[in-house]
Amino acid sequence: MSATILDGKEIAADIRSEIKSEVEELKQKGITPGLTVVLVGDNPASQSYVRAKARACEEVGIYSEVIRKPSTITQQELLDQIADLNENPNIHGILVQLPLPDHISERAVIDAIRVEKDVDGFHPLNVGNLVIGNGAMLPCTPYGIIEMIKRTGTEIAGKNAVVVGRSNIVGKPVSMLLLHENATVSICHSRTRDLKEMTRQADILVVAAGREGMVGKEHIKPGAIVIDVGVNRTAEGKLTGDVRFDEAREVASYITPVPGGVGPMTITMLLKNTLTAAKQIESV
Ligand code: NDP
Repeated sequence: MSATILDGKEIAADIRSEIKSEVEELKQKGITPGLTVVLVGDNPASQSYVRAKARACEEVGIYSEVIRKPSTITQQELLDQIADLNENPNIHGILVQLPLPDHISERAVIDAIRVEKDVDGFHPLNVGNLVIGNGAMLPCTPYGIIEMIKRTGTEIAGKNAVVVGRSNIVGKPVSMLLLHENATVSICHSRTRDLKEMTRQADILVVAAGREGMVGKEHIKPGAIVIDVGVNRTAEGKLTGDVRFDEAREVASYITPVPGGVGPMTITMLLKNTLTAAKQIESV
């Protein structure tokens, strides 16, 4: 078997064109969805993520601005900036690019974002609403993963889903979303005793460990859907996932490449969340 490649760019392009039409409709009602990205310091990876987010906003007609602050900013100054954005009627989404410098508590900053404007879905109220299935703003990467799985046309209900990784931004929320879709979900992590034994039971395998090539064909049940979230840089500087793509492709039914799989979906779901926030805040 040679798996069908789940092309994140193609799926993202479809969703972006749906978002673009909705943004145009909102603009006709005098509402322009607006996103502010707050970038602290000069981490090169963060700079490039922020540029990509701004480009994506422009593509669909969402207003975006980047507020750049030096890494010497105090926590209080950053909280004051968030408070201003919370009140700004032109801004519907606020995203603070992580990581933040060590002297600033990421938790305190995320907690300060108005929950309706929390387009990253990291505020504890959104996390709680996600757990109880109460219309939360979903975190972008897990949201994108579920969309990709759904677009394979596979019924998720009743399937065995195994998630490798239990972080707050990927592993835990994607596990919860799969559970809401009625999959039987197992979560693996660095203390899991026999990873292969677990992953081989997966009809849907989501790998988000950040360990280059840790999953090979011996980990994969024939016919499984394999979603590779990992983004790693090889010694030669090439981007690569957590799954050994070429061999996994021989056993899986669907597989996401790295790059070009989950990554483009993450930014797309940020656009979708900004649109949702604008509709909710403006009550349209
Ligand atoms: P974290 O480092 O926060 O979490 C990694 C998780 O993987 C932890 O739960 C860890 O277990 C688990 N893990 C690590 N090694 C193993 C192992 N050998 N066996 C089993 N489990 C293991 O990472 P993130 O969740 O933030 O990100 C994961 C990957 O996804 C990264 O490569 C990141 O770059 C990428 N990513 C990609 C995005 C995209 O848009 N494409 C967005 C976000 C992340 P434990 O908890 O026990 O330590």
